Amino acid sequence: MDAEQKAALEKIIDLSRRMVFFGGAGVSTASGIPDFRSADGLYARDFDGLTPEMILSKSFFYLHPAEFFDFYRAYMVHPAAQPNAAHRRLYQLERQDKLRGIVTQNIDGLHRQAGNRRVYEIHGTIYENACIDCGAPYPLEKITGSSGIPRCDHCGGVVKPSVVLYGEAPDKYVMMGACRELSNADTLIVAGTSLTVEPAASLIKYFTGKHLVVINREPTLADDRADLVIRGDVAEALA
Ligand code: NAD
Ligand code: ZN
Repeated sequence: MDAEQKAALEKIIDLSRRMVFFGGAGVSTASGIPDFRSADGLYARDFDGLTPEMILSKSFFYLHPAEFFDFYRAYMVHPAAQPNAAHRRLYQLERQDKLRGIVTQNIDGLHRQAGNRRVYEIHGTIYENACIDCGAPYPLEKITGSSGIPRCDHCGGVVKPSVVLYGEAPDKYVMMGACRELSNADTLIVAGTSLTVEPAASLIKYFTGKHLVVINREPTLADDRADLVIRGDVAEALA
């Protein structure tokens, strides 16, 4: 990323009054959480012939819960991770009343940890968990503080993370809120996402505002429509 691109980004931010940020796993790689599709992402590893997408699916969860939780604890839960420069800048922008909302595919909760309040976690969060039988809610520690299949203290049912697994539909109200923010935005920053996971990726079609910015290490399907494409690190670009 050169100084000219960085200046162009700051100019767009300066002109914006109703920005929305749409992000994915690449926003959190600088916090030490691997994404899926980078060269060092989880897709590059071998999990006995299974892909992360297979393991993180609704059918795998119900058929092989013990294996699901082994993978989930080892690769999807990073309770020690801290917000990075991208999260921190987005918190500042919300406080300055420039940023209207964050729509994130991430489940790591780092935007909320950074202080942002208007966050649409369209794939849920590791911090919310519930018994699949009686609905009793549980904190993350229920998952991290147990081994094997976490069980409900009240009824013995399986405690399931409230994250959206492949094959599950995102929460209707969260999706509606995200659509509303995107439709009202004057600027959209799309960052750290391969834009391959649906229906999340299609949400950006609701944006009809003035400035579309893409910040990603690799090309994305939104590049053609963008006013500014920064092919680089999102934490560095927003810092
Ligand atoms: P993805 O892995 O498919 O794509 C990530 C994209 O970000 C890639 O194009 C990569 O080049 C880019 N990238 C990585 N690090 C970057 C950086 N520092 N700066 C700029 N670009 C960077 O991720 P996705 O599109 O979010 O889809 C993966 C799915 O997996 C999502 O649904 C998400 O819920 C889930 N996931 C979440 C987390 C998390 O919560 N942190 C981590 C892994 C996967
Ligand atoms: Zn229960």
